[in-house]
Amino acid sequence: MKKTTYDVVIVGAGTAGIMLARELGKFKQKVLVLERKKSLLEFSFKTLASFINLEEFGLTNYSVAQEIDFAVVHSKSLKEKVKVVGLTLDKVKLHEEIINSLDDDFIDIELGVHIKEIIADAENNYTAVKDKNGKEYTAKIFVDASGTTGVLSKKIGLIPKITDLATGVEYNAKYLGNDNEIHLLIGKDYKGGYGWVFPLKNKRAIVGFGTFDKIMIKGLKDNLNAILELPTIKKLVLKDNDIVEGGSIPITPVIDKFVSGNLVCVGDSVSQVNPIVGEGYKFIFESAIMASKVIHQALIKDDVKLLSVYEDQWKKRFETNYIRSKVAQKRIFSLTKKDFLIDVGLVLLKLRANKKNVETLSGEYK
Ligand SMILES: Cc1cc2nc3c(=O)[nH]c(=O)nc-3n(C[C@H](O)[C@H](O)[C@H](O)COP(=O)(O)OP(=O)(O)OC[C@H]3O[C@@H](n4cnc5c(N)ncnc54)[C@H](O)[C@@H]3O)c2cc1C
Repeated sequence: MKKTTYDVVIVGAGTAGIMLARELGKFKQKVLVLERKKSLLEFSFKTLASFINLEEFGLTNYSVAQEIDFAVVHSKSLKEKVKVVGLTLDKVKLHEEIINSLDDDFIDIELGVHIKEIIADAENNYTAVKDKNGKEYTAKIFVDASGTTGVLSKKIGLIPKITDLATGVEYNAKYLGNDNEIHLLIGKDYKGGYGWVFPLKNKRAIVGFGTFDKIMIKGLKDNLNAILELPTIKKLVLKDNDIVEGGSIPITPVIDKFVSGNLVCVGDSVSQVNPIVGEGYKFIFESAIMASKVIHQALIKDDVKLLSVYEDQWKKRFETNYIRSKVAQKRIFSLTKKDFLIDVGLVLLKLRANKKNVETLSGEYK
């Protein structure tokens, strides 16, 4: 399909953009996805861990690298196993599966298009987005799915222009641990952040380190190399290459304003990544599906005021849980530089019911 007028223009073909396009295609809405990268499968990091149920999102186990039964939380001197139902996923395969399922009778994708601004008419209706070469793309409804860039959400003030970010760096390394365990590591050695080891296929794993601390960000690779020397990590992984992957997620207070007129925002462009362990996929897929239904209704009823229903539904589903996760995140990171208090935290984890620990880790409080 190649048309000059579209029902929806989506800026960004990442997690949120492709899921939203898939769902709008099912509703037979004409969609144009604009992506600044030259390839849909080019990423700055390639592994995910998630509590996701793939079937719930109409996905197969094609992208599964490992099925996870335990999240092992490590302090400097203690560890505690939490029984979980989780997965590690190959991000390239996951995106490949979604992209292959797009209905190309309804979805067009243009690569190498860098959107810079959104244009409004005298009545404040958005009429087009404009790329860096001045080309305009028109539609009835626009979506910002541009991730941490937030190219439109920041422009219209739904999210602060300068957003705090948590930044992570990782290596793909040889794995020495159990295939069904992911490892989360906290304490002074992780310098205002936390470490992780996620097993993949063939005794490989991702070992990473992320921090909220702006001062640490400059030296992240050195800090990653330093944590590889820690005894706990040495028992789990062996570095055999120097390729660093990574990226950033937004850290904001919980945001609940995602719509402005005929502009809808989904994903990291409005900080929809879960605050507790930075799990984005499961939550952003759900938000994109929620948004798709509301956009469909707004289009068939020709009433963009209906788009605000997406905000109401999101608040109902996520707001309380996100606020609790935010509180838990603050508590954990205020303790993270004090190893003794982290040990105490682990003892408390041991004493608590497993169900409660899963709730804290997954950010899904029942
Ligand atoms: C290091 C790291 C590890 C993570 N680990 C996990 C994990 O284990 N599990 C998990 O669930 N989540 C994880 N996340 C979080 C998850 O990856 C994100 O929350 C999620 O990908 C955000 O989706 P999004 O669609 O909002 O943004 P993205 O997936 O980043 O997509 C945004 C897209 O918009 C494009 N774009 C940006 N600006 C423009 C523009 N101006 N014009 C056109 N296109 C543009 C970008 O090129 C990109 O393709 C991790 C994040 C990081 C950084």
